[in-house]
Amino acid sequence: MSHPNPANTPAAKAAAHENLKPSNFLRQIIESDLEKGTYASRHWAGRPGDAAHHAKGERDPAKIRTRFPPEPNGYLHVGHAKSICINFGLARDYGGVCHLRFDDTNPEKEDTEYVNSIVDAVKWLGFDWNGSPTAAPYQASDYFDFMYRAAEYLIEAGHAYVDEQTPEQMRANRGDFGKPGVDSPFRERTPQENLRIFREMRDGQHEDGAMVLRAKIDMASPNINMRDPAIYRIRRATHHNTGDKWCIYPMYTFAHPIEDALEQITHSICTLEFEDQRPFYDWLMERLIEGGLLAAPAPKQYEFARLNLTYVITSKRKLAQLVYDHKVNGWDDPRMPTIVGLRRRGYTPASLQMFADRIGVTKSDSWIDYSTLEGCLREDLETKAHRGMAVLNPVKLILTNWDEAFGAGHLEPCTQPALPHANSGSNMPSAPDTPAQAATVSIADSAPDRHFTIGKEVWIEREDFEEVPPKGYKRLTPGTKVRLKGGYIVECTGCAKDAAGTVTEVHATVFPDTKSGTPGSSSIKTSGVITWVGVADGRQAEVRMYDRLFLDAQPDAGGKDFIESLNPNSLKVVTAMVEPSLANALPDQKFQFERIGYFVADRVDHVAGSKPVFNLAVGLKDSWGK
Ligand code: ATP
Ligand code: MG
Repeated sequence: MSHPNPANTPAAKAAAHENLKPSNFLRQIIESDLEKGTYASRHWAGRPGDAAHHAKGERDPAKIRTRFPPEPNGYLHVGHAKSICINFGLARDYGGVCHLRFDDTNPEKEDTEYVNSIVDAVKWLGFDWNGSPTAAPYQASDYFDFMYRAAEYLIEAGHAYVDEQTPEQMRANRGDFGKPGVDSPFRERTPQENLRIFREMRDGQHEDGAMVLRAKIDMASPNINMRDPAIYRIRRATHHNTGDKWCIYPMYTFAHPIEDALEQITHSICTLEFEDQRPFYDWLMERLIEGGLLAAPAPKQYEFARLNLTYVITSKRKLAQLVYDHKVNGWDDPRMPTIVGLRRRGYTPASLQMFADRIGVTKSDSWIDYSTLEGCLREDLETKAHRGMAVLNPVKLILTNWDEAFGAGHLEPCTQPALPHANSGSNMPSAPDTPAQAATVSIADSAPDRHFTIGKEVWIEREDFEEVPPKGYKRLTPGTKVRLKGGYIVECTGCAKDAAGTVTEVHATVFPDTKSGTPGSSSIKTSGVITWVGVADGRQAEVRMYDRLFLDAQPDAGGKDFIESLNPNSLKVVTAMVEPSLANALPDQKFQFERIGYFVADRVDHVAGSKPVFNLAVGLKDSWGK
C-alpha cells in the first residue's frame, strides 16, 4: 500500500496556500494583539450584550471578533466583496469569528429583500457565521434598548444634552477647520432637565427635527466630529424590525461603536472615510466602559482604503439609479458590479477571493484596474471550466468530397476532453478555500469527455475564411490546409457568394485518414487549427456578448454624470451554433468556448437542452485598454 505524501493532503495544501498570503497592516495589528494577549481576558456569554451579561459568560473561545456590517439598503457590490473577504478571512485565519451584522438603525431605507440578498451573497462567497454559537446574523436594531439606556447614562453623567437649536444654527455654530465652534445656549442644561426632555422626545411629545441629543465633548476641538456630535434624533418612521416602537433613532456614529462593543468585536475594520470618527468612537467606548455599561477591553477601529475599480461604480445609490432608470436589466444584470451581477456574469467565489487577496489591504486610496478582476476569473476558470466549441458568427463549410470518402449521410463520432489539462499535475486546480470551491474542483476532476459528430457540413466562423487573405493569414483561404479541431484536416477550395458578394458557403475537401487521435493525424502539414460545430448536431444558442458598462475609466469621479459615459454597446446578442455538450449545460455552468473566451450558462434564462443561453464572462486574453 502506498502512503499518501503528507504535503499533498487537502489540509497541507490549504496551509501552504495560507502561508502564501502576504502580510498587511491589519494582519500585523492582529498578530501583535494576539501576542500581547490584548483580548485574551474577554468573556462571551453566547450572544451580544452589555458588561454584566458578558461577565456571566465563559472566556471567549474566539481569539478575535470582526464584523461585516452592511446597511440593508441595496445589493452588495464588488467593494463589499472585498470587505467580506477581509473580515471573514481574518477571522478564519486567526481562530476568530466574524459577525454578519445588519446595520439597520436608519428606519427609512431598509428592506428585507436586501437582507436576504446580503445573506445569500456572504454564503455564496464561501463564508458563514457558523463558529458563532448563536443565531447570527445580528441586527443592530435589536440593540435599540441598550442604545437608549446608554444615552440616558451619558445624560446623567453630564456627557450629553438636548439641543433645541435649529439645524441652521447648529451648522453655523459648529465652526469649520480654521474656526472653533460656539457653545449652544442649551449646552448647560442640568442632567435632570436633559433627562426629562429626552424622555419626552422618546414619548413622542416633540416634532421630528425639533431637537437632538448631542454628546457634550468640546466645541473647540480641531476634529469637527468631536464638536458635540448629534447622537439621537426624532424621526417618526416605521422600522422594518421594531415597527413603531421608537420615534427617536440613534445616529450612526453613536450606534456603530455600541454595536461593536455589545458583540465583543475586537477589530472593527472600516473604510478610510471613517478615520475622523475614530476619536469619537474611542471617547464613547471610554465613557460607557467607565460607566460600567460595556465590557473592557474596548473594540478598536481600523481603516483601510475602499476599493475603486476602473470602469465600475461602487455606490449603492448610483447602482440603484441604473436599475430604476432601466439602464440595465435589474440588480443581477451581468454588467452590474453587484455580487448577484458578477455571479450571473460567471464570476466564481474563488475568483473574487483571489481578487481580494491580490489587491490587498492598504491605507491609501488608489484605483485598481478592471483587468485585475478579469485576470482572477480567467485564472480560476482556466483549470476548472470545461472546454467546448461554439461558432458565434456562423457560415457553412461544405466538405465537397465527404460522400465519396465516407458514404452519403455519414456522421463520424469525435471525442475531445472536457478538461485538456486535468491529468497533468501542474495544471491541477489549486487547493480549495471553501466547500463551495471544493465542489467545483471535484466536478472538474471527474470531467467526462465531450462527444460530437462531423459530417459533410459544419459551421465555421465567418472570419475563419478569407478569399483574398491578408499577409500571414493562417486559416481558410483557397489552397490552404487547416485542421478542424478534434476532426479532420481539410483543404479549402473556394466559396459561393450571393448577388451582393457576401460569402454564403465555404468549400473544402477532407483528407479522410487525418482524424485527430489517429496515426494519420499528423501526416499532412497544416497552416492552422480552427474551431467548428457540426451542422447535424450543432444547436442554436443565444449568446450575450458583454462589454464594459462605462466608456470612462472613472465614470463618477469628480462629480461627473456617470450616466453620460454609459457604453451604448455594452450588450450585443448573437445567435451562435454550439456543440451538444454546451447545449446540455446546467444553468451557472462555466465553459471555455475554445479560441473565444469564458462563458457561463445564464442562471436565469438558460434551459438545458431546449434553450441554451450563455453570457460572456471574460475573453481569453486581456483586451482592455488596447
Ligand atoms: P455604498 O456607498 O455603496 O452605499 P456603504 O459603505 O454605504 O456603501 P455599507 O452597507 O455601509 O455600504 O457597507 C458595509 C461595509 O462594506 C462597510 O464596512 C464598508 O466600509 C464596506 N464597503 C463599502 N463599500 C466598499 C468598497 N468600495 N470597498 C471596500 N469596502 C467597502
Ligand atoms: Mg454606509
